[in-house]
Amino acid sequence: MARKIGSRYTVHQVIGRGSAGTVWLGEGPDGPVAVKLLREDLASDQVLVGRFVQERTALTSLDHPRVVGVHDMVVDGSDLALVMDLVQGTDLRTRLERDGVLTPQHAVSVIADVADGLAAAHAAGIVHRDVKPENVLLDLAAPPGPGGAPRAKLTDFGIARLVDAPRRTRATRIIGTPDYLAPEIIEGLEPRAAVDIYALATVLYEVLAGFTPFGGGHTGAVLRRHVTESVPPVPGLPDGLWRIIAECLAKAPASRLRAAELAERLREQLPLLGELPPLALPAQGQPPAEEALTPGEAVYAEADSGPGTHRRRRGPAVPLVPSPSPDSTRDTHTSLRRPSPNELASYAAESHAQRSVAPHVHRKGRRALVRRRRTIAVLIALVLLLAGAAAAYAAFASGDGRGGGGRGGAREGGRVGAAAQVRSIQAALSPLHAPVIPGL
Ligand code: ADP
Ligand code: MG
Repeated sequence: MARKIGSRYTVHQVIGRGSAGTVWLGEGPDGPVAVKLLREDLASDQVLVGRFVQERTALTSLDHPRVVGVHDMVVDGSDLALVMDLVQGTDLRTRLERDGVLTPQHAVSVIADVADGLAAAHAAGIVHRDVKPENVLLDLAAPPGPGGAPRAKLTDFGIARLVDAPRRTRATRIIGTPDYLAPEIIEGLEPRAAVDIYALATVLYEVLAGFTPFGGGHTGAVLRRHVTESVPPVPGLPDGLWRIIAECLAKAPASRLRAAELAERLREQLPLLGELPPLALPAQGQPPAEEALTPGEAVYAEADSGPGTHRRRRGPAVPLVPSPSPDSTRDTHTSLRRPSPNELASYAAESHAQRSVAPHVHRKGRRALVRRRRTIAVLIALVLLLAGAAAAYAAFASGDGRGGGGRGGAREGGRVGAAAQVRSIQAALSPLHAPVIPGL
């Protein structure tokens, strides 16, 4: 099924789907192209379309062999499309899922290619902001690199920045996984080139180990690990390579290597990696331990694991050795401290003590209150009774004096006396809203 995109391009079939849209195999005046049609909700957002048009020059000017070039941007009715180099191959995520981790030599060669692409972008003032295996394309049509490694290209430059505007809701944000987020982004700083280095080092770690250093479990836990935890060591990784990864995963952006340095340092490692096989880490393919837990449980399971205990995270897992030594690179960052097992135990003891004291205190307090109320009520009743009795006595006494002249007078006097009695009782009760007796 062919479909026209603008006046110059025709697309034929879907070759990939992503979070921002669908990628089609297409044809333009200069031959085959890949056309990324952005999702309808993105394409109908006028602010977004405006920004795409503004960024057109920056995005289309990035021309480097390790970057998937953007030839054109088409705004056509409800279509918003990016016309790109067609890469014949696969993306790194699909490759990892299909064949597992790469040999150290292939991993280093692929990541060095991506670092070259980043160096060119950073020199042009462009930060990618969404480096992850899905955005690394392996060009299987190109002659292979060292040791037969596939050549890699980085795609989706600038898309994250355009689509991930602050006013967008979380549902429409393009950045889907927190695994590659640099700590300074989590802390709300402006993303600079160093965020791409952090993300790329995370990808390198992942293609070697089979899982990301801080991923797994609840998003909140992942974000916290980025900010506070040291990088879990990968058993069997050559020292030189480990040092590069650790430097690029430094919490402080300024401590990380620059893209060109990273590419160079990685290539220096290549001869040392020779025929090393892919790392075979324990428990490959095991179900993730933390994902079986609720987010809260996962956080506490971590807090509970004391020195010397092992934790497992997402995917093919390795015993992660909790590092008792503080990470010196986090100096410039907020230190969200996790309570030690001892502190947690003392909190628990405290709250237990409070729980066992509290009901006792409450019961005693309630009893005293009830006693006080009862005493007040009895006192009020007594005062009322006394007042009533005194008033009745006074009324009878005055009635006797007035009704002394005959039976009728006595009857009259008796009636007056009763009325006076009631009135005086009323008067005594009036502050307590005694009912008014009609006719009296
Ligand atoms: P997302 O929007 O999630 O970043 P993409 O739209 O970039 O995803 O890509 C989706 C898939 O389409 C990729 O994983 C890849 O397989 C394929 N793809 C993307 N760009 C190209 C391209 N230029 N050439 C060939 N295939 C591509
Ligand atoms: Mg992408």
